[in-house]
Amino acid sequence: MPEALEFNPENIDKSELISVRSIRSDLHCHSVEGSPVDAVYTVTELARFYHDVLGVEFLGITNHYYGEDRLSAVQGGIDQAHELYPDLAFLNGLELDINLDGTIDIPENIEKSQLNIGSIHGKPNTDISDRILTALNNPYIDIVGHPGRYTKDLFGIDWDGICAEAATLDKALEINISELLNPDIEGASVERSADRVYLMKDEILCNLAKHKTKISIGTDLHQDQRVAGADTLGMEWRKMIEVLEKLQSYGITKDQVVNTLNYDELINWVNSHRKH
Ligand SMILES: [Zn+2]
Ligand SMILES: [Zn+2]
Repeated sequence: MPEALEFNPENIDKSELISVRSIRSDLHCHSVEGSPVDAVYTVTELARFYHDVLGVEFLGITNHYYGEDRLSAVQGGIDQAHELYPDLAFLNGLELDINLDGTIDIPENIEKSQLNIGSIHGKPNTDISDRILTALNNPYIDIVGHPGRYTKDLFGIDWDGICAEAATLDKALEINISELLNPDIEGASVERSADRVYLMKDEILCNLAKHKTKISIGTDLHQDQRVAGADTLGMEWRKMIEVLEKLQSYGITKDQVVNTLNYDELINWVNSHRKH
């Protein structure tokens, strides 16, 4: 039995477990402003749903960065949404690509970004462990997005080492709710069965629990989900509830999940990384 599986979630006080009532934010959203090609909703549309339906306190808008200034475009959308929903707060952030060698092309105006997710997109047959470990040590990265996506060698990844390193650095690995329950969207070029994907997820979740690694939860809505129906936001949130139940079953606690932090606490957590 791998060492990670010896962790017993039954030993954890149930009141400490993560629950939907403790979630204050969605920290991975794409908006039409700043990301017109791959987003579905404007910031105002996102805000309406999260404010009126869910009562969430703030949203992390984290559009892809491809060499252009996304932050200014998004700020316009945030300002508009904030006029309509003054008690909903926003983090204007970025989702940055992790390069093949683990480095990240850092935008010139990175200091304006309030939250940075580093994610692997494509190139599945590379050393994913090294790429993630290098990215975690980048002082601008707060969260590694959808770790485990675009992975050909499902069981060749050192989740034990990755979760331990993230815990040491007080950074988060993401639970991306668009993928945890759906193996189909994990990179069309990667051939593998759903069973094997779930086994890999099991390995990640066991190690997150074992090391008490910080976790960030994000919906990561993209254009391809528009076809799923009109109520995609509602659907994503129902998936969120399912995902949280799964995290509970692994013994993931509230203090591990950065979505339970209030706005000021989350900003302080981000700033603590920049000092390294
Ligand atoms: Zn991504
Ligand atoms: Zn994304």
